[in-house]
Amino acid sequence: MNSSDLRIVRLLEPDLCLECRFAHIVEASGADGEVRQLIRCQRKDCDNWDFRSAESVGMVRLPRTQEPF
Ligand SMILES: [Zn+2]
Repeated sequence: MNSSDLRIVRLLEPDLCLECRFAHIVEASGADGEVRQLIRCQRKDCDNWDFRSAESVGMVRLPRTQEPF
């Protein structure tokens, strides 16, 4: 997965993206290298992102607890 154009941002309302069909859960490492479970929202016009907290992404992978799709 190419993560060069991805950013970790805070979601204003995490539930909104969770229920959105453009989003799914991934594991990603941030600037500090720590792996966290995050929502990957692929909706281009999503207005739920707080870009003031934008952080570069080290790597992204599917969580081990989920089947690949
Ligand atoms: Zn979203």
